[in-house]
Amino acid sequence: MPKTNLDLVEFLEGITASESYPVWQEFYRISQIPRESGNEDKIIEYIASRAKTLGLKFRIDEGEKKNLVVYTPSTNGSSDTVALQSHVDMVCEKETSSQHNFLTDPIVPYVSDSFVKAQGTSLGADDGIGVAVELAIMESGDMLHPNLELLFTVDEETGLKGAQAMKLPLKAKYLINLDSEEVDTITVGCASAWRYKAILPGTAPADAKKLLEIALSDFPGGHSGVQIHETKRGNPINIMGYLLSRYQNDSDHHINIKNNFLNITGGTKMNAIPRDCTVLVHPEAIYMSIEEEAKRISEHFDGAKLNVRMIDADSLDASQTMMTMHPEQLRNALSLIHSGVLYMGTTQYCPVETSNNVGVIRTTNDGVTIEGMFRSSNAYREQMALDSIVRAFKSNHFDGVELTGYSGWEPKSDYRLLNMAVDHGKRIIGDMKISAIHAGLECGPINGAYPGMQIISIGPTIIGPHSPDEKVEIRSVEKFYNLVHALLKDL
Ligand SMILES: [Zn+2]
Repeated sequence: MPKTNLDLVEFLEGITASESYPVWQEFYRISQIPRESGNEDKIIEYIASRAKTLGLKFRIDEGEKKNLVVYTPSTNGSSDTVALQSHVDMVCEKETSSQHNFLTDPIVPYVSDSFVKAQGTSLGADDGIGVAVELAIMESGDMLHPNLELLFTVDEETGLKGAQAMKLPLKAKYLINLDSEEVDTITVGCASAWRYKAILPGTAPADAKKLLEIALSDFPGGHSGVQIHETKRGNPINIMGYLLSRYQNDSDHHINIKNNFLNITGGTKMNAIPRDCTVLVHPEAIYMSIEEEAKRISEHFDGAKLNVRMIDADSLDASQTMMTMHPEQLRNALSLIHSGVLYMGTTQYCPVETSNNVGVIRTTNDGVTIEGMFRSSNAYREQMALDSIVRAFKSNHFDGVELTGYSGWEPKSDYRLLNMAVDHGKRIIGDMKISAIHAGLECGPINGAYPGMQIISIGPTIIGPHSPDEKVEIRSVEKFYNLVHALLKDL
């Protein structure tokens, strides 16, 4: 067991005979090079110069995103090619008291009990350990492996931008992504992510004195991928669409919303499940008894609230734009575009295959803007469901429907690379879990651009990534490195 609070150099002096020594040595070296997302030129130059010194061929993407591949010839007699892939950038977070400058200062890693941490900052084990593993393999003269394409991508942490822009020529039949965060888990699938935005033009600025405010609040919110199947979270923007439809021109109910909407606002990010939505309308007839509906909302969506009240337009924040809009079109779009799970997963590895999250709704002088995030791991159902969302907007006179994103990676069982990882993993690590995530990984865009590769994602155990508490378990790094070795020897 390592001693507490050694710096990493002292620690290295104590483990020179350990199999993972080269990984830690490389990790220490790259920790000296600032590498926040978008600031990766130095680390890419550094890796390229190491390849050059070894006489290895390499290539850097020509576009704005400088992804790098280093080609290493086979040493085990295999004529197959395997890609190992990690991202060189890191999330830079520091403690409030820290003076660390992420543009100039090296990370200071140290050993604390059985983990490596950084002084006052995030550590960058995500994905620095993956980068270090590739460098250690690149440097090792005697290791057995097939032809290797050692891939280093940039700008992962701000939306997989490097991987999305990758144009490097690759021959690999197998790809091992080194960016997972639990040593005993093999990831076999991830979702696409499509961001969409559409605008319903307003017809005229509105000027009303008395307004009815309908407010949905206190919804739990959450991650638009990994928590989208938790029904009790609800989506207040869609629920508002339902309320507005239900109470239109309906004299049986207590609220009669006949007139045009003036302002609708909800959510904060397209990739977060919204927590609130508020509408201001200029109603024709109002009866304020909404207890029944409020009770149902609270019961069905984890304590969420519905409040309705009359307010003076004068009391509003001046930044709240008032526009007159076609109620019909807005109501229809919000009712037709479902948020939540669209298709369940078809394997045991992930509960959800296809989902949608209407994340943000805003009123500006242009009208009402709706933004959301759609995810799927199946290309065909993705196409069908995305098509229906775009149609719901267009048929309701929304303008300029924008769609940007990247493809997913459909989980499969029983393929050679996975079976080998399970077998070797059982021997080296112990019981192995197989999982797929309903969120993005670089394997998604890479799978889209280089179809037909067998892919897995593995990594050491990292706790608290993207925060100053980030730490990586020392023993898991050794196990992870041994697993990569064993796979490369047999591939
Ligand atoms: Zn990562």
